[in-house]
Amino acid sequence: SDIGSQKERVVTEEEWLQKWEMGNIGFHKEQRHPLLQKYLDVLLNGRSGLRIFFPLCGKAVEMKWLADMGHTVVGVEVSEQAVKEFFSDHSLPYCEEPVPEISGAKMFQSTSGNISLYCCSIYDLSSSIIGKFDGVWDRGALVAVNPCDRQRYASLMINLVEKNSSYLLVTVSYDPNKHKGPPFYVPESEIKSLFG
Ligand code: SAH
Repeated sequence: SDIGSQKERVVTEEEWLQKWEMGNIGFHKEQRHPLLQKYLDVLLNGRSGLRIFFPLCGKAVEMKWLADMGHTVVGVEVSEQAVKEFFSDHSLPYCEEPVPEISGAKMFQSTSGNISLYCCSIYDLSSSIIGKFDGVWDRGALVAVNPCDRQRYASLMINLVEKNSSYLLVTVSYDPNKHKGPPFYVPESEIKSLFG
């Protein structure tokens, strides 16, 4: 297939934690993503007070931006360091509590209550734990998922969205034989078959 050797590549959770520890986080951007600004109207679709999900959220600055607009933001991130840095970078007070349904998981919530970040693997979540969402910002998420886990990831995401939801997906296009990823190259045809 045209994704070549990336198909077999696996990045473990431990390796992601190490990237955070080493400060090897070139994916993190201080500026809001220009495509979110450009397609904000598509995400919101005239609605206010939405529940918006950030899969594999890192410490994405767009979470603060959308929360400040009055939306409720929920993210999931395996690195506790990333989650804590998000709140400290924005000087946001937060509290921390266990997630009874998931052993070892913690939920970090801004004191104002509008940003909740789950520290666990996304594969531990389900709509019975975090509910369903009106909007999704998927940047550095599908493209960070191991190629072998894409189907599982997409099925979960489909399960986490309401009927009238908007899903913004950012991918990257390049020759997968020249870079091992992540971010992985996800062909358009595969996106169509994953999400229908
Ligand atoms: N979306 C963010 C971060 C992209 S990098 C941004 O736009 O900046 C991908 C992130 O996913 C990393 O922070 C990594 O620690 C996290 N991650 C990787 N596998 C995960 C998993 N299974 N569950 C939750 N988070 C995961």
